[in-house]
Amino acid sequence: MPLHIYVPDDHGATEVLAVSGDAVAVRPRRWPGDTYPSLWFWFAVRNDTNSAAPAARIEVRELRPGADSYEPFWKHCLWSRDGEAWERIPDGCQSFGETTLRIDAPLAVGETVWVAATFPLSYAGCAARSAAWQQPAPSGLTLERREFGRSVEGRPLEAFHIRRPGAAPEHQFVIVAGQHAVEQTGKLFARVVLDGYHSGAFANTPMAALLEQWAVTVVPLANPDGCAHGRMNTNAAGVVVDDPADDSVETRALLGLLDELQPRVLVNCHGWGNEQGAPPYEDLYRWTDEDPLFAWLRARVPGCNSSSAAHWLADRFRLECHVRPRYGTECVITEQNWNWYVPPSGGPPRHPTRADLEVRVVEYFTEMACFCLHGKGADAAL
Ligand SMILES: [Zn+2]
Repeated sequence: MPLHIYVPDDHGATEVLAVSGDAVAVRPRRWPGDTYPSLWFWFAVRNDTNSAAPAARIEVRELRPGADSYEPFWKHCLWSRDGEAWERIPDGCQSFGETTLRIDAPLAVGETVWVAATFPLSYAGCAARSAAWQQPAPSGLTLERREFGRSVEGRPLEAFHIRRPGAAPEHQFVIVAGQHAVEQTGKLFARVVLDGYHSGAFANTPMAALLEQWAVTVVPLANPDGCAHGRMNTNAAGVVVDDPADDSVETRALLGLLDELQPRVLVNCHGWGNEQGAPPYEDLYRWTDEDPLFAWLRARVPGCNSSSAAHWLADRFRLECHVRPRYGTECVITEQNWNWYVPPSGGPPRHPTRADLEVRVVEYFTEMACFCLHGKGADAAL
């Protein structure tokens, strides 16, 4: 077989349909229970021949066009030569059919090209970051790992309690990520926060000042099985996570943690690649436009409310509807866009690099910290 195709087993969901000559075809796997059409894929193609392939013809099939899939998800895909550094596939190397993405990738002898719907944050990668956060922090902060449960398939459910030694925090700020496990910018949000507190990169910022009076707890991967399998929004048992009827073992364990912490602020990090509204096409779920945390962010994080349709929490989300009546928790769900970015310094909208996405997380989290320090989050009467 001249071309070899490789699908990682720690962030799966790519099905191989055909490999022949200089052509391969794949499709995203549709998992039982997922309520969105599957649009996630991540795989590699390697030239095992003795001669350079002028171009490997790679086709991703059975993609859903139109409104039911927020179509542009798959029109800004990425490729990589080493599986680490990703860039948008150049226009000249890709073409689109009604339900297909065709990529023409020049491949020298022994060369590999990786293709993904967006920046993949695999289960193995998440586990490696977790191990790193358990090492002594150069920042001098304490990142205490706590396993608060196990997934259906036995993967650990982890929280990191972040504290400044000597501080006596009065309030709890909780970040949850990865419920919908291929919404990569949600997982990236938690990763940037934990990396920043661990490395010391947040020193002398509002995010560091937050720890004077607030304890920050981050759950970086609330649905580890979903991440490992590349599911859109379900756990390994096919339960839609954070749906009102979500009684998954993962969410029950998380509710137990939230009952213990009784957070004043809960930020639930999701992500998407939509193009509805104005760039960067983002929104925050909230109950009303007057919700204090939402109002604070809308006024200070440009573009955080740029989707054409308002996103209401209403009674639709398990975690949020659990904590608000019990603890008066301020809640938002973030939907950071992995396909669009508007530089804070000005300049036209563009397809973000991984570094751009990390800058955007810091924009959000800085203002979340400021809300706690200077906004209504600082009021005892919240
Ligand atoms: Zn989601």
